[in-house]
Amino acid sequence: MNIVAIDGPAGSGKSSVAREAASQLGFGFLDTGAAYRALTWWALERNVELTDEDAVAGLLGSFPYSISLDPARERVAVGESDVTSSIRDPRISLAVSAVARNVRVREWMKSSARELAAHSGFAGVVAEGRDMTTIVFPDAATRILLTAREEVRIARRAGENAGRDLAETTASVRERDAKDSNVVDFFSAASGVTVVDSSDINFSETVSAIINIVRAGSGA
Ligand code: C5P
Repeated sequence: MNIVAIDGPAGSGKSSVAREAASQLGFGFLDTGAAYRALTWWALERNVELTDEDAVAGLLGSFPYSISLDPARERVAVGESDVTSSIRDPRISLAVSAVARNVRVREWMKSSARELAAHSGFAGVVAEGRDMTTIVFPDAATRILLTAREEVRIARRAGENAGRDLAETTASVRERDAKDSNVVDFFSAASGVTVVDSSDINFSETVSAIINIVRAGSGA
C-alpha cells in the first residue's frame, strides 16, 4: 500500500490539499480528524461527559463509524446518521481535543486508520491528520508536514467560517492547536519528514508540491 502521510495544524489547508492530491494521484483520501469529530458528536449525542475517559473509551466497542475514502465523495456516518456536515460545527471543534487526548481513543483511531487504508480499494491512500507521519504510518513511502504561518492559517479559517467573528476564529484556532500539541507534536517535522510551507503559495501550487514529493519518492 502506497501511503502518503500528511500532518499539520488547524487551517494549514491539509484537508482540501490532501483531497485534491489524492484525486490527481488516483489514490484514496483519509481524513483522520473526521473520526475524532464523529466520536465527539456521538458522545455528546449520548450525553457522555467528554472528560470521563472510561465512559468515552467505553463507546468504542460499538462505535458504528464509517467514512468514504473516495476523494470525490465526502461522507462520514455514525450508524444511519450522516454526520458529514454536523461534525464541522464549532461546538464539535471546541470539544474534540478532550476526546483526542484519551489514550484508548488514540489507540482505536490508529488501528481504525490502518484498517481503512489497508482495505481502501485504491492503489494508494493520502492520509491526513496530526500523527500520520509519526505514529499511524511512520513507515509511509511519503511523509509530509504541511504548515503555514499562524496569521495565514487564521485568515484561511476565517474565510471558511464566513460570518464568524475574526477574534473568535483566532481564539478557536490558537486554543485547539495549543491543546492538541500537548498530545502530539505536529509543529515540527520528525526525522525523514518533508516540510511544505503553504504560507506564500496558492492552493494548486501546494497540491503540486505534494504530488512532486510523492512522485520523486515513489515513482507513483
Ligand atoms: O483535522 P481536524 O481539524 O478535523 O481534526 C479534529 C481534531 O481531531 C483535532 O483538533 C485533534 O484534536 C484530533 N486529531 C488528532 N489526530 C489526528 C487527527 C485529528 O488528534 N490524526
